[in-house]
Amino acid sequence: MTAPPAAVRVGADACPGALQTHAAADGALARVRVPGGLLSGGQLRALAAVARDLGDGALELTSRGNVQLRGLAAGTEPELGDRLAAAGLLPSPTHERVRNLLASALTGRAGGHVDVRPWVRALDAGLCADPALAGLPGRYLATLDDGRGDVAGLGGDVGLQALSPDEVALTLGGADAGLRVHPDDAVPLALAATRGFLAERAAQASSAWRLAELEDGPARVAARLGATLPAAPHRLYRDIGTTPSVGSVVQRDGRVALIAVVPLGRLDAAQADLLARVTGEVQLTPWRSVVVPDLTEDAVDDVAVALHRTGMVFDEASPWTRVTACAGRPGCAKSLADVRADAARAVATGTLPADGTRQHWAGCERRCGRPRGEVVDVVATGTGYRVGKS
Ligand code: SF4
Repeated sequence: MTAPPAAVRVGADACPGALQTHAAADGALARVRVPGGLLSGGQLRALAAVARDLGDGALELTSRGNVQLRGLAAGTEPELGDRLAAAGLLPSPTHERVRNLLASALTGRAGGHVDVRPWVRALDAGLCADPALAGLPGRYLATLDDGRGDVAGLGGDVGLQALSPDEVALTLGGADAGLRVHPDDAVPLALAATRGFLAERAAQASSAWRLAELEDGPARVAARLGATLPAAPHRLYRDIGTTPSVGSVVQRDGRVALIAVVPLGRLDAAQADLLARVTGEVQLTPWRSVVVPDLTEDAVDDVAVALHRTGMVFDEASPWTRVTACAGRPGCAKSLADVRADAARAVATGTLPADGTRQHWAGCERRCGRPRGEVVDVVATGTGYRVGKS
């Protein structure tokens, strides 16, 4: 049976980038792609500096492990582009919006069958090296899962999932595509699947933004790769946890990684500078948390205390591990409330609705940034909030 397209798009997506900014109510908004969520200390410092000099002083963490800069003055894009490029955050101006790569948190440091960081670098380089792939929609997403199953279920158009140290499965639209390769051959396969998406999109004369929006998209792209989707694809990943993981993890090399939730995903420039001082690389996660790796055992407590003092959360019992929010007022003209201030007040006063379960506050029914999985919606109505699942 042919699967119907999930939606019919009538034009190109308007996903913001670093150079193609979005005019928000609080100024221009730039989205800086951070493949795998991996940022060096120098890149963090550079982002903190541009947030201070050109934006509203903060880095907004997104549900794809990217960074948004808000409150930019009109015409800032050239300077922003130059500064990002100097920090290695804009390797290809023509491909800047298509570098959407999620990678397993802690990969290469603890857990997982393989280290997917080399995949991140190779896939990013492969995307940027092919002029045709600049035509990908800004919403196209690749998930690179080292086997722990944390990002494979996050709605990637194409995905690589390690099944063992020697075997990798390709996923298309989140489903098993029935193809298995050695880890060394995984990135070329993901690139071939990505080209297959564009070819299928052209064949269907479609302007789909996502693979699932194409008629029978995953099956037809699999066929272009010489594969047949399994009749009853088995799930390759476990269900996503209901709360982000926080705390500390001992790495394979004996050092320690801290994982901190950043309330409402707003990392201010001083916090970013502090992170850059305590470690050489951080990993932003799709759960608005930050992995602070490679700490020596005797440094862990001091780093945790210093980060906690700035507002980062290490306590799994904290309500901040369960609360997310869209931009709301004043950043979004569509918003019916200052949802971030209201959510922060509810956390501070212990008055979160829905018994404080995992919840997403939004200024309107679009519910931007809503996490996947079981989430209670807290949606502004103009006279209060509607609370409930949908
Ligand atoms: S959910 Fe509505 S109010 Fe919130 S950012 Fe999206 S469009 Fe704006």
